[in-house]
Formats: sequence, structure tokens, C-alpha cells
Amino acid sequence: MVLVVQKYGGTSVGSVERIQTVAQRLLKTVKAGNSLVVVVSAMGKTTDGLVKLAHEISANPSRREMDMLLSTGEQVSIALLAMALQELGQPAISLTGAQVGIVTEAQYSRARIFSIHTERISRHINEGKVVVVAGFQGISSLTDLEITTLGRGGSDTSAVALAASLGADRCEIYTDVPGILTADPRLVPDAQLMDEITCDEMLELASLGAKVLHPRAVEIARNYGMPLVVLSSWTDDPGTKVISPTPQPRSLEGLEIARSVDAVEFDTDQAKVAMLRVPDHPGVAAQLFGEIAGQDLDVDLIIQSIHEGNTNDIAFSVSKGILKRAEAVAEAIAPAFRSPTNPSADEAEVLVESNIAKIAIAGAGMIGHPGIAAQMFTTLANAGINIQMISTSEVKVSCVIDAADCNRAIAVLCDQFNIKSSPARLPTELTDNSLAASEGSKLNQGKFRKSDTTNSGVETLHATSLQSTPVRGVALDQNQARLAIRYVPDRPGMAARIFSILAEQTISVDMIIQSQRCRVIDGIPTRDIAFTVAQAEAENAQQILQEAAPILGYGEVLLDADIAKVSIVGAGMIGQPGVAARMFAALSQHQINIQMITTSEIKISCVVNKEQGVTALQAIHQAFGLAGNQQVEVPA
Ligand code: ADP
Ligand code: ASP
Ligand code: MG
Repeated sequence: MVLVVQKYGGTSVGSVERIQTVAQRLLKTVKAGNSLVVVVSAMGKTTDGLVKLAHEISANPSRREMDMLLSTGEQVSIALLAMALQELGQPAISLTGAQVGIVTEAQYSRARIFSIHTERISRHINEGKVVVVAGFQGISSLTDLEITTLGRGGSDTSAVALAASLGADRCEIYTDVPGILTADPRLVPDAQLMDEITCDEMLELASLGAKVLHPRAVEIARNYGMPLVVLSSWTDDPGTKVISPTPQPRSLEGLEIARSVDAVEFDTDQAKVAMLRVPDHPGVAAQLFGEIAGQDLDVDLIIQSIHEGNTNDIAFSVSKGILKRAEAVAEAIAPAFRSPTNPSADEAEVLVESNIAKIAIAGAGMIGHPGIAAQMFTTLANAGINIQMISTSEVKVSCVIDAADCNRAIAVLCDQFNIKSSPARLPTELTDNSLAASEGSKLNQGKFRKSDTTNSGVETLHATSLQSTPVRGVALDQNQARLAIRYVPDRPGMAARIFSILAEQTISVDMIIQSQRCRVIDGIPTRDIAFTVAQAEAENAQQILQEAAPILGYGEVLLDADIAKVSIVGAGMIGQPGVAARMFAALSQHQINIQMITTSEIKISCVVNKEQGVTALQAIHQAFGLAGNQQVEVPA
């Protein structure tokens, strides 16, 4: 018998009629010979309604009571769906997270799943019942039965975690669109359906604002190799497959918790080019990266921090072998940025640094767990390692450090995050740049994963057919605000202290950028650090940081809530020059100024003015030829 876990989202169970339609579908699946576990969300916008109710009573309700409240939404929909099935003559039973035994960590409103007790579900399946489970909720312990929720959108995560725990044959996520599209069809009407997408790509897209899947659901599917598909609740179309690599065997204990960090990655074949004091207006990044792409040079990390006066600093990394050419392009273009109409830009200058290495931690377990980036910075600081550049996504934190520190950084990070590293894979060529350059990058890159018995180096993509288009999807996040801390003393441990303070207040930080420009204040070299946080937490974060300023010795803390983050994602951009240039050119053509840039191997994110967010999204969707002529219907 095939065991399938299906999940239906809020819109799909938004009314009695829709619940009945879902019941009909389930019956068909059972009749076709499948055993079924069904996870449902709360009906329609129930959860939003409950949040609103709470805020009518308290501006800052206790997180425990919020979880008590929000978890009720799913209890309604599971009971109704079980009744609808019973009406059709199909035996069914509804179960809450507590009744199943979905055990989470003791963290209200953002709990990660520790383990799922499957005995009761299995018993009911064997009795021939469809088991209907409340998504989004769990309990913190089997004794206290404290109700926890997984975070908004968390029913997807419940479903995939259940599928993994039950050893299901597949997990199907039914929603109100036909599958995963190249963009949110509510913002980009000509977005196209994808047949398939890799887990890595989906993880980035999901964490950058594509709420069609909860990123933690994608991570679990990847870790346990669970076949995952996203499809429409209204049609029989095949939807979008999310493709996982074959995983290493992994325990179901500590499901989401054992590994908040899944991998430590390094790349020593990196050199940095920084352009300081370039003008802050639309088109500058497009021009610079356009020239670089014109020379067929591939850039890796790109970072642009917040502007100062009316100039910006842009830094990027390239493999060592092409540093000279990249530097030449930057030098050639610099005079253009020293125009008389831009007096403050007259000191535009190019800096290069070839003895650097990139070190990163990766894993969706860090989403909503602000302590993890801070832990990375603290670990590096304790080892006396200074961080030159930081670039983050929600699922990855990358730091550029001195190449000489790379081995030590790998060792302390693998130790800190309990990741096995095999000395055979440590970068031995660190001191030999010529070798590194001539042998190509692969020699100098590696990835250590938790369950590795042998380290396989950089993971190859599984679905090679997906690599032909550099950009697979675009996303917009309009719920972020930007904070900037001026004049942070440039010494090991500062980033660690700043982000630890925020982590202690459970404020999650995304997209951290450290400026290139070093200013000497009272004899102390300083840099700015800018980052984005959820809008709801921005003022609190600003206040906390301002209070810590006298102790930590930095300057002002600036807040800008009028921002949007627009991103492109695609595994095909690895090793393909010109992708960043195309994105920046699309923004420039629409007179959209880029305020911040960060990248990872498979994504580029830009912070722009909030008002221009949707235009920016549409422009880049168009620029990468993602638009099609079929319009997707989106229900109200
Ligand atoms: P559910 O209640 O089924 O979990 P959600 O509202 O959480 O549904 O997620 C589905 C919605 O995600 C779609 O209606 C769509 O507006 C939005 N969305 C954002 N980005 C994408 C994307 N790339 N592909 C498909 N849908 C997307
Ligand atoms: N009902 C919850 C929410 O609205 C969980 C979910 O729908 O996935 O966030
Ligand atoms: Mg959802």
C-alpha cells in the first residue's frame, strides 16, 4: 500500500463547499489504493483574524497565549474535514498536534519540530482510516502538553515532517495556484509554472518571500529525500516537483533541531575587488557589472552596503585566476565615476585583496533562530579571526576572511556546529596561489555536511536539465526594514556582540552587510554594518542597539522601513557571467536605485525603495525572459 501525506492550505479549505471538495478528492485517492494522512491549515484567513483579535486586546500579547489562540484555527478545519469524509462513508479521524505527539522545542510561535510519534497515526491507518492532522502546531513536551506553533505558513513543514517520520512514499502540497511559478502571480500576472525545481533553489526562493512553500518544509524534504510536489487543489494537473538529492541516512530524532547548521562550506579560490565611493544613483551597478560581464568574467559574491553621503561602495569576489582582468575593468571604469558633476565621487578608488577565503554555514534550521549567525561570528571571534565581509541569506551566512585563517575557521566552525570534517578535505593549497589559480576553483572548495562519511566537495546539481536557464524564479519581500550601525570598530568580535544582543531578544536578522570603507575615528578603524530585520521588530532592534552603543563604541543606528528586497534565484547562475549585470540593468532601465546588494551562489538580492518593489520584481522577471503568455488564475 502506498502511503501519501497530503496538505491543503487555507484557501483550499476556506469554506464548507471547499472542504467537501477536498473530501471528494481524498476519497478518490483512497479508492485508488492509497493510505492517506492529510494535514490541513486553518480555514481561509482564520489565522490572520485571530492575530487581529489578539491585537485588539494587547499590543504585545504573550507568545504562549498567542500559540494557544492561533492553534485553534486548525482544530476547526481538521474536525470539519473528518466529518466531511465520514459523510462520504470514508472512516476518518482528526488529531491535533498534541494527540499525534508532534514534539517541538519549547519555543512559542516559531518552534522547530524535535520528533513525531507515529504509533497512533499508524494504528488508525491500519484501521483503514484517513488521518486528518492539524498543521502548524505541536507540543513542547509530552508531560506539560504546552501548545507551540511552528511559525506562519508552518503547515507545509508539519506535512513534510510527518511524511518523513512515517516513511511516506511522497508528500503533496495542495494550494491555490497550479504549483511553483517563476514569481508570485498576484504581483506578476504572466508568471509561468515550473515543472520542477531543485530543493536548493526552492529553499532560497521560499526564504526570500515566495510563500508558496515554507522554507523549513523544503529543508526537511531535502534532508530526508522526501519526494515533494506542489499542486493545485482545483485541478488534476501535475504541479511542480521539488527535487532532492539522495540524502545520507539520518535519524528522525531531533528532526529539525539536531542540525540548525547543515554544512560548513569554504572557498579559498577567491579574491576581492572593492570600488569605493561610486555615485549613488540608478545604473552604476549595471554599468560596472555590465563591463565585467562584457569581458566574460564571472563574479561570485557581490556586496553593496548602505550609501554614505551620495556615494556607495561595491565589492565583489572573483576566482583568483581572473582577478587581474576584473581589476583592470574596475580601474578602467573608475574615472567615469569621478565626473565633475559628482564632486563627492572624485575619490572613487579600486582596492583589491587576493589573500582571502570565503567561509559559510548553511541550513534552514537557522531561519527564525537569530542566535546562529551570532554563534558563527562569536566562534570566529574567539579564534581571533577578523571578518572582512559578511553576506547572508536566511539559510546561509558567508564571511570573507583572511586566507591564512581559513583552515582554523573550518575547524572551529565544524566543531561549534558539530559537523564532521575530514582533514583530507581541508584546503591544503591555501598558501600556493599560483596552484589555486591554475588548477581551477574546485580544488579549493568544499562542503562538510553533518552526516557525511566521506565529503564529496561541492555538491553537483541533480537535475542538470534545470541548469540551462540562469534564473528560475524571482521573489519580493516587502516585510523588511533596514538598520545601519555607523562606525563599528573594526576588530574581531564586534559582529558577534552586535548580533548576540539581537539574538538574545530573539530578533532575527537577514541580509547582513559590512561596509568596505574603513574610516578612522579617534584613531580606531571603523566600518558600518547594515542588515535587514522584519518590520515588526525594527524599532525594537534600533532601540536595543542604541542602548548598547556606549558600551560597544559604535555611532548612530539608522532605521529605514521604506524598503523592499527583490531577488533572483537559479542554480544555473553558477559560473555564468552576466547574470548580475542583467538584473542591475533591468532595475536601472526603470530608474530604480539599488540600496544594498547581497548574493549567494544561487541568488542575488537587492534592496530598493519600497514603492518600487513591485515594478522591480516585474522588470527583472521580464528581463530574464520568464514571462509567458498564459495567465494563472488566482482565487480571491
Ligand atoms: P496555502 O494556504 O495553500 O498554504 P499560501 O498563501 O501560503 O497558500 O501560498 C500560496 C500563495 O503563494 C499563492 O497564492 C501565491 O500568491 C503565493 N506565491 C508567492 N510566490 C509564489 C511562487 N513563486 N509560485 C507560486 N505561488 C507563489
Ligand atoms: N494557519 C497558519 C498560518 O496561516 C499555518 C499555515 O497556514 O500554514 O500561518
Ligand atoms: Mg502556506
